[in-house]
Parts: sequence; structure tokens; C-alpha cells
Amino acid sequence: MHGTKGKIRPNLEDYERYCRRFTWSEAERELSGLPFGRGLNIAHEAVDRHLENGRSDQTAFRFLRKDGAVEDLSYKELSKRTNKFANVLQELGIGRGDRVFALTGRIPELYLTALGTLKHRSVFCPLFSAFGPEPIRMRAEIGEAKVIVTTESLYRKKVAKIVHDLPSVRAVLLVNENGEKTDIPGTIDLRDALDAAASGYEIGQTDPEDPALLHFTSGTTGRPKGAVHVHKAVVAHHITGKLVLDLHSEDIFWCTADPGWVTGTSYGIISPLTNGVTSIVDEAEFDAERWYRTLQNEEVSVWYSAPTAIRMLMKAGDDVVGNFDLSKLRLLASVGEPLNPEAVIWSEKVFGIPFRDNWWQTETGGIMIANFASMIVKPGSMGRPVPGIEAAIVREAPEGGIEEVVEPGEQGELALRPDFPSIFRAYLNEHERYAKCFADGFYLTGDLATKDEDGYFWFVGRKDDVIKTAGHLIGPFEVESVLMEHPAVAEAGVIGKPDPVAMEIVKAFVSLKTGFEADESLRRDLLGHARKRLGPAVAPKEIEFTPSLPKTRSGKIMRRLLKARELGLPEGDISTLEK
Ligand code: ATP
Ligand code: MG
Repeated sequence: MHGTKGKIRPNLEDYERYCRRFTWSEAERELSGLPFGRGLNIAHEAVDRHLENGRSDQTAFRFLRKDGAVEDLSYKELSKRTNKFANVLQELGIGRGDRVFALTGRIPELYLTALGTLKHRSVFCPLFSAFGPEPIRMRAEIGEAKVIVTTESLYRKKVAKIVHDLPSVRAVLLVNENGEKTDIPGTIDLRDALDAAASGYEIGQTDPEDPALLHFTSGTTGRPKGAVHVHKAVVAHHITGKLVLDLHSEDIFWCTADPGWVTGTSYGIISPLTNGVTSIVDEAEFDAERWYRTLQNEEVSVWYSAPTAIRMLMKAGDDVVGNFDLSKLRLLASVGEPLNPEAVIWSEKVFGIPFRDNWWQTETGGIMIANFASMIVKPGSMGRPVPGIEAAIVREAPEGGIEEVVEPGEQGELALRPDFPSIFRAYLNEHERYAKCFADGFYLTGDLATKDEDGYFWFVGRKDDVIKTAGHLIGPFEVESVLMEHPAVAEAGVIGKPDPVAMEIVKAFVSLKTGFEADESLRRDLLGHARKRLGPAVAPKEIEFTPSLPKTRSGKIMRRLLKARELGLPEGDISTLEK
């Protein structure tokens, strides 16, 4: 499958050639560095650098507020307001390396907090606004939060209950959603503080290895880990935005991810800014019509989303999309979970271009494997490594240690050479867990994959989710993708259920599109379809219909929960479970 619309030449035209010539130090030269050799700071590259290159008056962010209001923020204005935020931290006595937590929806102040914190060389740690008090408390405790930025209503509902258990917190900055002043004792009105702060700020000497971001993982496989990233990561944010998302300065870009997880920060804040484009930020939650209308009215050209959202759009039906003019869209990208081939085929049909899958993790800080704009898409494949990234399939070697799998199609663990700028530098306070991720010069990702003869990588499943049945190793993705081909299926989650004979049997949980009846005849039909496509050894033995599947806040199917519930076992950490 090919196809990018429009006449824009992709930034990466010849993959092989680009890879041969690529070096990270050359990539860093596309950024400017702080003036007078004072190092490398993410916020300078994202914002202030543009004041001298003609982008000053260009819109950096267009905020679509819940109430229908639209607020544009130019690069110049963003620079001024993030300076103010940095000055607010300064006044509060917050310093280099101190952690600033944000717990808000996608409101302008969140973006000022992120970039102002980075300017001040403090560490930005975003949380999902939908987290309950305990997940917030736990993360703020691990991260020794010095500042919490939140809204008045979130404060009242959640933070007020826990802030007294957090001795590290020195200041709570509040935004009132109705534009009124807040006067809760022990807190500071952020807008007042910003108004009073000076609008000039000089970023201090920033070592590229200075910590910049603390991101908690999604908690799909267990207790979330706090991954630490440094300012140098901006080189990877920038170059992947340029090469994978193919950002050109005239693009209108929309990353639908919330900054509560890493995509919403790396590609919802940093990368589009370093690449000098205009980003759309929608404060509202998913709604198929609203999303299509936004794509149309804002003339979005590059759209970065996730399989969970794509499945919801598919579920909403194709009549909806037909009502909108989406001709400005020229590149669609997806991350977060495996993208079922069915979703790629669907997007070809309704948008005229395929969703281009890419793979990465909180730990890698930026995109690692991708379907580039100039590349043929093989539906179901994650694509090929980003220039400068060496990815391999590895397995345990008979003599100990690990070895690379060279045979195409052979399954193993996806591993990366950890010599790229955005690799995490620590799991906060968990040194052993961090050290375990590295062996023989590789970072081990915990995901299983294969690589084909053309160098494309294919996701099999997480190591934890792989099913062992009657001598076979089955990745849930393969089974789920086949179930998704059936017109009745909206979503599928597949687990291994312990079995005395086969070790495990394949069990599928399936939710249906509207208008389909969860009855015996559909179950038989689905089982038959799966058997025909996968063979009896791999096809599910059991199918259970369910109105919805348990997911993380970032929209990932939590197979470990399906399994725990099936077996009546404790559910483990469910702090990121969507409720
Ligand atoms: P935790 O590590 O806490 O269990 P998590 O792994 O879901 O949570 P993230 O770092 O947000 O946390 O997600 C990265 C993981 O998401 C990858 O390791 C992979 O399993 C999955 N993933 C992301 N993108 C893709 C993709 N394009 N195809 C397949 N899997 C993907
Ligand atoms: Mg993970």
C-alpha cells in the first residue's frame, strides 16, 4: 500500500541513503543550542529559537476549548508566557532538578507549565487529569513533587485529600476553569502569579544530560515505572517529528494524545514546536463527529493518533466520515498499541491514505520504528527503524547472554542499541529494575517481534501476554487482528487461559459494533471465521462477549486484567485503569 496525498516532498525520501549518512551529532546541528554555548535546553529549541527565524508571529498552538472558544498562541506569546512561568518558579524558590507535576486537562496553562518548567531546568511530570487521588499521591510521592499545577475543581476533588501526605510539596498553583480568581488557603492563583511575573527570562546553562522529564509508564503490564529523560532527548523529538511525522513548517498538526502519557508531551508539545508547525489542542474528549469536524475545519494535514481512537472511529461507522471534507489530510500516523491491518485498510478506504503505524515506548522517549511517508505500508507491520536507531530481534544464547536472531520471520525480543539521545536514564528510585533492561549492549524492550526479509518489523505481543498452547507460542495481536476482520467486531482482547492438557488455551473477549446481537450463532460464526483464517491450533477455543474491554487511560487493552478476572486472581495495580 502506498499513498501520501498532495505534492509535498517527504523529508525522508530515500530511506537507505538517509540511514547510511545519518549521525546523531549531525542531527543535533539542526537545533541551535543555547546562546553563547550554554548547552542544550528543550524549551529553547521548542520556543525561543523561533523568535529569530521568522516564526515569531506564527501560531504555535490553537486551543479548542470545551465551551467552543478558540485561543491562538503565537510562538512569540508562548515565549513570553513560558518565561513568566519560569519566573513564577524562580520566585517560589524552586530550582534546577526540582519536579513540577501537572494535573490538568489540555488547557493552555498545561503547556505553559511544561515549557516554563523546562526553561527553569526543573523537571516536568505530567499526570492524567482523570487519575484518582491515590494514583496521584503515589506518583507525587515517588517523584518528590515540589510543585503541583492543577485546576481548582481537580484540587477540590482530589489533590486536597492527599496534599498533606506529601511533605515535598512547596507550592500548589491553581487555575480556575471559569476564569475567576481562586482563594483557597495554602494555594496560589496561577493566572495572578503569571500576570505579576516578569516576561523576560534567560535560560541558565543546561547540560544536555540534565533531567528534563519524568514520565510514568502506562501500567499495562503492572505497576507503572517513572522513566527519566534528559534535555538531550530533544534531538530525537525533533528528528523523528521531521522524518516520521514528516512535519513541514506549513503543516497543521494534531496529536490527539493527552500529555498525561509520553506521546502527548514528546509529540503533543515538543516535537511540533521544534519543527515550527501549528498544533491543534482539543480540550474535549473523544467524539467521532467532533474529531472529523476538527480535522475538516482546522484543515489538519498531519494527524497522529492511536489504535484505540481509530477503532472507535471505525465503530462509529463510515456514514459519519462521509459528511466531512478531509482533503487536507496528507499523513496519518498511529502509536500506542499494535495497529490491526483492518484499521489500515479502513483508513485507505475512508481517507484515501493509510494509517502509518509506529512503535516506541515511554522508555525510548521518541519514535523508534516507523512507516515513513515515502515507504510502502505493509498493513500489520510497525515499519523500519528510524535513522540512527539500531533495532534487532534477540533471544537467549545457548551459552548464556543474548544473541541476535538473523533468520527473517523468527520470533524474539525486540531490542535496541541504547546509544540514542532519548533513551531513558533511570527508572526513578528503581535501579535494579532499570539495570535489568540492559544486556550485552542492548536495551531489552519487553516486546516480542519478528523482522522480515525487507527489514520491516512485526509486533507479536508483549512478553507477558504471549500464549503457550500445545507447543505453540501465540501472540494475541495475530488472533485479535483476525477477529477484527469480522464485520461485527469492534474490539478484541485475547489471553491464554490455563488448561491441564494444552498448558493454555486461547480465549478471546470481544465487544461488538452497535446493531449486532451477542448470541450463539454469532459466536459460532466468529469461531468459524477464526478457525478458517488461523487454523485450529491458533484460533480461540472460547469467545466471551463483553460490552467493553478494560483499558488504560491511554487506551491500551489490559490483557493482564482480563486474565486476572478470568482466573479470579488479584487485579494488581489498576491506577491507570480507565473508569
Ligand atoms: P507498562 O510498561 O507500565 O506496562 P506500557 O508498556 O503500556 O506500560 P508505554 O510505554 O506507554 O507503557 O507503552 C509502550 C508499549 O506499548 C510498547 O512496549 C508496546 O508494547 C506497545 N506499543 C506501542 N506502540 C506500539 C505499536 N505501534 N505496535 C505494537 N505495540 C505498541
Ligand atoms: Mg512498558
